[in-house]
Amino acid sequence: MSELKEKIHMIDNEMTVEEIIKVIVGTKEISDPFFIFDVSDLVNKVIKWQQTLPRVKPFYSVKCNDNSLVLQILAKLGINFDCASKGEIKKVLDLGVNPSSIIFSNPAKMISHIKYAKSMNVDITKFDNELELYKIKSIYPSCKLIIHISYDTQYPLGIKYGCDPLTEAPSLMELAYNLGLSVVGVSFHVDSKCNKPAVFKRAIANSANIFQLAQELGFKNMHLLNIGGGFDGNKNASLDNITGLVNDALNEWFPLNNGVTIIAEPGRYFVTSAFTLSTKILSIKNHSNDENHIMYFINDGVYGSFNSVLYDRSVVIPKSLYEFPMRPVYQSSIWGPTCDGLDQVVEFVNMPKMEMGEWITFEDMGAYALRIASKFNEFSLPKIFAVANQNTWEQFKNTSISDEHFSTMSIVDALKIQ
Ligand code: PLP
Repeated sequence: MSELKEKIHMIDNEMTVEEIIKVIVGTKEISDPFFIFDVSDLVNKVIKWQQTLPRVKPFYSVKCNDNSLVLQILAKLGINFDCASKGEIKKVLDLGVNPSSIIFSNPAKMISHIKYAKSMNVDITKFDNELELYKIKSIYPSCKLIIHISYDTQYPLGIKYGCDPLTEAPSLMELAYNLGLSVVGVSFHVDSKCNKPAVFKRAIANSANIFQLAQELGFKNMHLLNIGGGFDGNKNASLDNITGLVNDALNEWFPLNNGVTIIAEPGRYFVTSAFTLSTKILSIKNHSNDENHIMYFINDGVYGSFNSVLYDRSVVIPKSLYEFPMRPVYQSSIWGPTCDGLDQVVEFVNMPKMEMGEWITFEDMGAYALRIASKFNEFSLPKIFAVANQNTWEQFKNTSISDEHFSTMSIVDALKIQ
């Protein structure tokens, strides 16, 4: 079990995740759901980011998926980290990451967490209100500060965090100046899973105005723009529709060589497509109001890995592991295993008639799924089987990743000794 949990197993370059799942379920009777973590997918995302947003240094948003292998691989690839709490900071520091590679990114911080950040030399954080400035002044006055502006109050996080760039930011900046605090930059976070790229443009322009304001107030060390997260990470998503606009806005408002470092806090972009969930059908019945509608019960649900269906109204796409072209297609719904009426994973989907014990897979499950999942009703959380193709093995050969995590045992053999 620990072999499987901690190790990365090599697969051929040509092997697909679907083929790996078929090998796994064909090898052993498995009753719990499980993830495949495709390390190569994560590595490719990092490469793609560097190619398409070359000016923007990513600080991975740890809350999105804090799986320790994910963090270690990103650290090895030179990615920095956005941490929201003492626990996240500790987790990242414990991997040997330098404190200067961490932003304590929560605008509303607990005093004990500020003290911890100070003790560990994590020396940059955000603020969006007066009280936070007074807290920092009294506990950690040398900490560098980023003013977090809201871009839009339509999204819950836009209401919860960020000060209005026009009506609130000027007085907050003035207070910070009068308290002798060091404001070094501006940040914003557009809607997580942002589908309106134009908001980036507006937020970048608003940030430039704050830089101007800071200069007028007398701040001498403004050098950081943090454009947050919100970059889609699904398999079929492309960064291209957003990057052109972001790069153009950056070039317009923060031209190259103007001394401002551009950073971001992507979460879902890096991890979403790297995780595929396999679930097994545990029961089936006809809908009481519609005998042509089949209800499938699977071994993971909205209190587990599908939590974003409940709290984020995410739509997940089920796919039968095997194709059944000869079977009749029925209107179907998919339900989780808990004894709770809300535990519905998919409200409506046309699917071939499935049998108990067959597998349904879900791609794009790497963001905000694993960490938030609970064991409500004491159902098991999925195991994670990490795989990497030969190219990725070559890339990490003779590094701490290969020393600690590469397993020469095939995933099938590892499964047998479980
Ligand atoms: N930064 C902040 C401040 C956030 O609140 C979030 C997520 O809500 C992120 C970054 C990561 O967002 P995403 O996963 O959409 O990239």
